[in-house]
Amino acid sequence: MEFERFGTVSFTIKSKVDHFVDLLDEGRVAGTRCTKCGECFFPPRADCFNCLSEEMEWFDITGTGQLISYSTLIYAPTGFEQDLPYTIALVQYGNNFRLFGRLSKEIKTEEIKIGMKLKVTPVELPNGRVSYEFREA
Ligand SMILES: [Zn+2]
Repeated sequence: MEFERFGTVSFTIKSKVDHFVDLLDEGRVAGTRCTKCGECFFPPRADCFNCLSEEMEWFDITGTGQLISYSTLIYAPTGFEQDLPYTIALVQYGNNFRLFGRLSKEIKTEEIKIGMKLKVTPVELPNGRVSYEFREA
């Protein structure tokens, strides 16, 4: 499976981290971890910008994170207009690992609070593409 199936609109056709989409199909949200220095990446990267190694391993993102920042969009980039309004969030997992993505629409605007516990979940979009979102933990 290739990256063209990722997200509402995909701007990347082929990448070194296509496996990310296969894992989403299996119900897993994964990042990559450098096996040399331990740096973690999400979105997954094929090369470590910390030590320049190409030796990466996949790891599942499990457990809960904490919401540290968010923004509800009422205007969207081209291709995302149908989804409005939606909320993008930055979620802290552990000490030095952050995930960026959308909050589930199941979470009402007035329920969104900095520090709330969230878990990342794969989702299938109405157009058959796959993505992930944050849900209440
Ligand atoms: Zn590294």
